[in-house]
Amino acid sequence: MEYDYDKLGLKVGLEIHQRLDSHKLFCNCPSNLREDEPHTWIKRRLGISYSELGALDPAARFESLRKRDFLYGIYYDTTCEVEADESPPHPLNEDALRITIMIALMLKMRPVDEVHVMRKIVVDGSNTTGFQRTALVAVGDDNSYIETKWGPVRMATLCLEEESAYIVDSTPEMARYRLDRLGIPLVELATQPDIWHPDQAREAALMLGRILRATGRVQRGIGTIRQDINVSIEGGARQEIKGVQELDLIPEIIRREVQRQLSLLEIREELLSRGVVEKEIDSPIVDVTRLFESSSSKVVKRSLYRGAKVFGIRAKGFKGILGREIQPGRRFGTELADYARVFGGVKGILHGDELPGYGISEEEVTSVRKALSCEEGDSFILVIGDVVSAELTLNSVKERMKYALIGVPNETRKALPDGNTSFMRPMPGSARMYPETDVLPVNTREILREVSGKLPAMPKDIVSSLVSKFGLTEELAWELFDSGRVEIFRRLAEKYKIPSRFFASVLVSLLKSLKREGIPVENITSNNFEEVARYLSEGKLAKEAVPEALAGIATGKYSSIEEFIEGHSLSLDQLDKIIDEALSKLSDKIADRGMGAYGMVMGEVMKIVRGKIDGSIVSKRVKERLEEFIQRS
Ligand SMILES: [Zn+2]
Repeated sequence: MEYDYDKLGLKVGLEIHQRLDSHKLFCNCPSNLREDEPHTWIKRRLGISYSELGALDPAARFESLRKRDFLYGIYYDTTCEVEADESPPHPLNEDALRITIMIALMLKMRPVDEVHVMRKIVVDGSNTTGFQRTALVAVGDDNSYIETKWGPVRMATLCLEEESAYIVDSTPEMARYRLDRLGIPLVELATQPDIWHPDQAREAALMLGRILRATGRVQRGIGTIRQDINVSIEGGARQEIKGVQELDLIPEIIRREVQRQLSLLEIREELLSRGVVEKEIDSPIVDVTRLFESSSSKVVKRSLYRGAKVFGIRAKGFKGILGREIQPGRRFGTELADYARVFGGVKGILHGDELPGYGISEEEVTSVRKALSCEEGDSFILVIGDVVSAELTLNSVKERMKYALIGVPNETRKALPDGNTSFMRPMPGSARMYPETDVLPVNTREILREVSGKLPAMPKDIVSSLVSKFGLTEELAWELFDSGRVEIFRRLAEKYKIPSRFFASVLVSLLKSLKREGIPVENITSNNFEEVARYLSEGKLAKEAVPEALAGIATGKYSSIEEFIEGHSLSLDQLDKIIDEALSKLSDKIADRGMGAYGMVMGEVMKIVRGKIDGSIVSKRVKERLEEFIQRS
């Protein structure tokens, strides 16, 4: 179903995070991701003092409730003391700053005179220092915008930041991170909340991603660019949805967030009309373990055997609401379960709207309702665990239920693969930046002068030049742009006489389809593409043979295109022999039709030589030999 977004007052802003293709921001380590096991692990506990945490920051307070150890995996060859926080940061990477200023100017944003590195508190352990270094590089004004089909989207800010450490795994007690990713330079481009339609958000993200790539200085591939989406509707609340990597998911995430906020507002109305008040939600936590002593529920039995207990609270006036769907496949009870997981460290909760179920019987439900003093219209929540986690869990669940009376809480949420979102943590407060005294400010005047004269072409200009100069269709030109192979295409298409459209589609569609078949196309080098162009132009490689040749290179069957041709090409003598055989086979037809038999001969010959020699050579040769054949007979 499609909403009237204008009427709902939908407001969306994007925050695009793009890794730059440069060494790390505060040391000289390469910005390489590792797949292998770290060489060693170091253990840290977060050493931030309370004054630094900011007394009122909800995200910080939330994390400080959880006492965790952090383990960091280091690599002797590609990480150093800076990532491990054993040595102060080096001066800001000026190459990365240059790229960032380039991006700012391409978007007509105003770079700041002096770049000051700041510390942004991070309390989840994703940085060894306990903060992320970030620097504002440029700000937008009314001239810095992109024009989408739904209207302009203005740029707000452009920051240069360090990428966080990669999380390997975590439990409520500890988290393991790898340091290979920590410190990779990252730009954070934030738009104004000018977006008012879900599809516009996708278009804006696509356009901005292309502008970033037009610099030629950004990392490419999975994980190198990600979007955070800020979404709100009138009467709802702003949500920060983290880590969207697929553009096509953006509209769906926004649609479903609108649905969620509308559902939560409906729930609020319903609770108010039922006369539910905050005080009543604050019901006591009751140990109901004894009611389950002879339970036939496997989940309950197994937990009780391990020594866990069952605790419950009444959910005053929530009957039917806990089970209500607020996003496809997600219920209000799922929102509560998110809080239970995040704050209580438990796997989940059981609520009255889904019971009897999970092996819990009607009788057990009745006795639980009685023990919790549930009346008509009330529901209840159960959690299985120890006293401490049950208390944390049920108190956080109560807080969330109380907020249902107010409406939609401000949250940082995580994008799920189906377009839903789940609760990650409360939205951080705004006062969490401190100056980084270990890094000197950088004056931008020099870089600005250097960069402003030679800005890269904008994506749409690159595409229109591909269309006009090489006769590509606009669609193919955009695909070529998005594939990142414009430069190699341009160079080879100018150097060799080759059919440009065909060559562009080799670089785009063919590679894509080979990749889909599981062929490791990343093994194909620019030298291989040059060979393809050269042999195509010399007629030694048939168009039809290009897929097999490149697949053979990728899989290591051939070490070069030349080697492929040696095994596959046909000499002109061999071709002539095949043509002659076809001529004599079809001599009756030729006697009847003369040159009109050309198509038939051609078909016969191509059956044998397809892919081994260029079709145009075959055609020319068939024509000549057919003429001679007719004259002779
Ligand atoms: Zn380093």
